[in-house]
Amino acid sequence: MLILISDAFASNLPAKLARFGEVTDDKSRLPEADIVLVRSKTKCTREYIDEAKNLKMIIRGGVGLDNVDRQYAQQKGIVVHNTPKASSIAVAELAFALMIAVPNKIIPGHVSMSQGHWIKKELTRTELFGKTLGLIGVGLIGTEMAKRARAFGMKVIAYDKYLDEHPFAELKPTLDEVLAEADYVSLHTPLTDETKGMINKQTLAKMKDGAVLVNSGRGKCIVREDVAEALHSGKLGGYATDVWYSDPPENEPITSAPNVVMTPHIGASSKENLLRIGDIVEELIEDFVKNQ
Ligand code: NAD
Repeated sequence: MLILISDAFASNLPAKLARFGEVTDDKSRLPEADIVLVRSKTKCTREYIDEAKNLKMIIRGGVGLDNVDRQYAQQKGIVVHNTPKASSIAVAELAFALMIAVPNKIIPGHVSMSQGHWIKKELTRTELFGKTLGLIGVGLIGTEMAKRARAFGMKVIAYDKYLDEHPFAELKPTLDEVLAEADYVSLHTPLTDETKGMINKQTLAKMKDGAVLVNSGRGKCIVREDVAEALHSGKLGGYATDVWYSDPPENEPITSAPNVVMTPHIGASSKENLLRIGDIVEELIEDFVKNQ
């Protein structure tokens, strides 16, 4: 059996998987591979799947499956798995770090000092304590975010189209209600036809003036030109994001907009998470081998 590790996984993974067969990271061997391991970089499109003539299983180490054409894989009899539970802590910790960096002026403080300036008087901070966090999507990652926000003394409200109750967030029946009430809005939905572009000119207008938007969900859940415009006008007080239209972003209006805190899609990239993902990948392959 040939296992192709196509994206970045924990460095100990090839050794862990060696007992199942040959393990390679040589992408030119895709046509021979029985199992392909991807994160978000490799796009398992129709063409990719057609090239993988021997493929029986795709494992996406991570949550979102928007880089895998699941329907086509299924048609071809290829099993698709992801590792949905592994990444919640890693992503929530990064989302929280992005959120907390905005009112604490971590980026302007750091950048100005690295340029030799001391702008202590100019940097007025605000606190998260007593503010309202509005979560859009309150599944595994949103729930971890809610727990952390409550520990900081925030009120947590949420809109989740597919949930009726939640232990840590007060659910609101509409997106608009959350947008109108929240000081911080954090996106935690998958990218679907419903969520694509859900934060746009119209929905931004419903937010409080100066509210902060946090995005660790997917770049395309926002309309980037509209978010950039809202940052330039001051309608948005900040945009803290880990996710982009593409990795890396191209012709990106957000990177040069004011009051942005940004990371290069590293939400799931904690060392601990990669080890957890590796353990789950090993279990999935073990089950696959047993059922052969
Ligand atoms: P999850 O499935 O546990 O939670 C998603 C929640 O969104 C669910 O509760 C669902 O009901 C809700 N939802 C779906 N459609 C909605 C809609 N139209 N309106 C409102 N709510 C809706 O998933 P999760 O593990 O919490 O992950 C959430 C997303 O985070 C992933 O789909 C992925 O896009 C993103 N993610 C990003 C990174 C990163 O590196 N930044 C890593 C992992 C996941």
